[in-house]
Amino acid sequence: MSNKTGSVTPPADGQAIRFDDGKLSIPNRPIVCFIEGDGIGPDIWRATRQVLDAAIDACYGSDHAIAWTEVLAGEKAKSSVDEWLPQATVDALRKFRVGIKGPLTTPVGGGIRSLNVSLRQMLDLYACIRPVRYIEGVPSPVRHPEKVDMVIFRENTEDVYAGIEWEEGSRGAEELIKFLNNSLGKRIRTDSGIGIKPISVTGSKRLVRKALRYAIDQGRKSVTLVHKGNIMKYTEGAFKEWGYQVAREEFGDETITEQALWDEQGGNVPEGRVLVKDRIADAMFQQVLLRPDEYEVIATTNLNGDYISDALAAQIGGLGMAPGSNEGDGIALFEATHGTAPKYAGQDKVNPGSLILSGVMLLRWLGWDEAATAVERAIEATIAQKRVTYDLERQMEGATLLKTSEFGAAIVENL
Ligand code: NAP
Repeated sequence: MSNKTGSVTPPADGQAIRFDDGKLSIPNRPIVCFIEGDGIGPDIWRATRQVLDAAIDACYGSDHAIAWTEVLAGEKAKSSVDEWLPQATVDALRKFRVGIKGPLTTPVGGGIRSLNVSLRQMLDLYACIRPVRYIEGVPSPVRHPEKVDMVIFRENTEDVYAGIEWEEGSRGAEELIKFLNNSLGKRIRTDSGIGIKPISVTGSKRLVRKALRYAIDQGRKSVTLVHKGNIMKYTEGAFKEWGYQVAREEFGDETITEQALWDEQGGNVPEGRVLVKDRIADAMFQQVLLRPDEYEVIATTNLNGDYISDALAAQIGGLGMAPGSNEGDGIALFEATHGTAPKYAGQDKVNPGSLILSGVMLLRWLGWDEAATAVERAIEATIAQKRVTYDLERQMEGATLLKTSEFGAAIVENL
């Protein structure tokens, strides 16, 4: 619970997750922070918590439980402690290592940045992870959405998203243009705005390392490095090179590159190896539509990752059902990928699927796979019964319209 200063008090029987020597230790009653979020946040959070608790109870009885601990952020924090993101919230997430959040309003004006971006930077959550898998029965714009089963690892801290930019006409832009034109011999129009795209060895390698580790642990067949290195050699191209370097130097026995596959193995992936390949971003957008079953894990830079995550989400039926997490080393924040949909706030109307499926990712992160799978199956069963919220109901013939809370209850019934 949070009190009036925003400080955080976990339930007395909750235990903190530990991270020692690169390994997580998960107690039977881990403290997990939650931010219910703004707008539709409280509605989808209520349904999510109900489903997750019921699944844990159904799978483990009293052996496991989550010690839910509220931490404040967004409008609720602003109205109760007059801050958008209290320090106590950041400290609690850092200490307890895991959280789940509903969407947060991005405050307009007043120099306040997106709270999501702030959280990612303050906690160094460098990988944005988005699993994209089709759920039978969800209306989709393509003929074979069931061929999509991918997990995107998007770099979260650099690229043109680092926020290093100068407005056209500003002193910064003028000075940079002068320097680039006069000292480095470039030809940039003087009426340009300037944005900088940093891509580092550190940022690229740790992202690709996480993707490779995931693919190996989960028995996935391939990791594809997606980049635009044919045009941006020293940023996007370097990302690809550093990615292959990590595969070669740190996972040499567990991976094989596409080149070695054909040069040395006649095109057959040796048992137990993950295939590492790369694709140029524009070609990749075609590939995910035309041959989605050839791709499993994608590791990519920030901007490419932003585009491809949403494109793939659309392919399997939209953002309302797409889960996500932002993860660092031994720390993770799971979140709905859509916004606060303010026009539906408090109406018990919207689809809680994105946050519930983010909860499934949380259960897997805790190592509680049985409960995670139970929730997935129950969601599939509920959708197969055509008992859905308005967003799906309006596209499905013969469906029964449910409220957010009723959809949550239907999932619990199907557990
Ligand atoms: P939005 O909140 O995602 O809503 C856009 C539309 O998407 C809604 O009107 C609704 O479509 C549909 N939608 C979103 N969530 C849904 C759900 N759970 N179930 C069914 N339909 C859903 O986008 P926005 O209006 O651009 O953004 C509103 C606020 O959210 C802004 O302050 C923005 O900064 C913030 N935001 C936060 C996050 C985050 O915290 N991660 C992410 C994105 C945006 P219909 O109207 O067609 O029904």
